[in-house]
Amino acid sequence: MPFSDFHGNVETLHRLRDMLARERFPHAVILAGARGAGKYTLALMLAQALNCLNPRKTDGLPDFCGECANCRRIAQASDLDSRCGEAVEAREALRETDKKETRLFIQTHPDVLIIPPDPPQMMIKVDQVRRVIETIYYRPSEARERVYIFTDSAFMKEAANSLLKVLEEPPEFATIFLLSENSGELLPTIRSRSMIFQLEALTVDEVDSYLAKHRPEWKAAQRALVARLCEGALGRARSFDLDGYTAARGDALAILNSALLAGEHTQLFKITETYRAGAEGRDKTEQLLRTLYSLLRDLMFLGAGTPELIHNSDIRNQLTKLAESADFEWITAASDRLAEVERGMRRNLLRSLSLDALGLALEKAG
Ligand SMILES: [Zn+2]
Repeated sequence: MPFSDFHGNVETLHRLRDMLARERFPHAVILAGARGAGKYTLALMLAQALNCLNPRKTDGLPDFCGECANCRRIAQASDLDSRCGEAVEAREALRETDKKETRLFIQTHPDVLIIPPDPPQMMIKVDQVRRVIETIYYRPSEARERVYIFTDSAFMKEAANSLLKVLEEPPEFATIFLLSENSGELLPTIRSRSMIFQLEALTVDEVDSYLAKHRPEWKAAQRALVARLCEGALGRARSFDLDGYTAARGDALAILNSALLAGEHTQLFKITETYRAGAEGRDKTEQLLRTLYSLLRDLMFLGAGTPELIHNSDIRNQLTKLAESADFEWITAASDRLAEVERGMRRNLLRSLSLDALGLALEKAG
């Protein structure tokens, strides 16, 4: 997978590769961008480029082969979610006392260490940074450059302070990547010792043409829908659960229909009954609420006379019909009710009941 497989953010990629070419690659790099923007993909590609055994040039700039032993082993870490899942499982299998002292790492190459946030708090902990300090001052064994990739910027305070000490005196042969959805979370002193690169959202057209190649089984209207919903993040577009979304949207539409048009609740109760207790029901309910927000937002755009901004463009006719009965005040009241249901979920109120209440309340609001 050479750099030509990285989509979008052409200028940023060019700058990074140019620094590789001049052998002036920084010791600490912050890759900032939304979830799914390609931060991790890019960090792994750069780790490969720093260590490829058969380095090559494309477009006059350094590239990697994707085939040598270093490239291949680094690429084995590319499915971050699965690797994290395995690491968590391995830890769960340990004895209780060992479990407490074991921190999460992903390592598929001896000189490349990936540090994910450690559950259950999902933060980088001081013991994880300690592992970095213990190894970073030794020359790499099979690579040219030791690489550390922190996949999240939520650091416990002590962990952030330890990292800062490393950044004050990094060795010649090490590079640290900090991936961040919000680089403001990082200590200013960490930011000032790093070079920050922002990965921007791709345009709807860019995502659409990527999907045309990589998800040929999707119809044009489905691709256009996903391209809008993923907000320019290719990682989210690629792994988008279209079936799950379509199912949730069917339920959300039925709830809105019952509130705005039907005035009859059998259908509503039938749907809410399928939202049960437990973790699975929670995920399903959360997706329903997200979808309801997205439909309300579209109704707002239709009401405002800006139909080109709607996300659910494949069901424009249905939404237009609903929009005729939903004025601005109703939409605002409905959004408030949704927020109430979300709060109720955090207090573990029965989901089916709060969804019933939601459906009925929306009707009263109208
Ligand atoms: Zn290679």
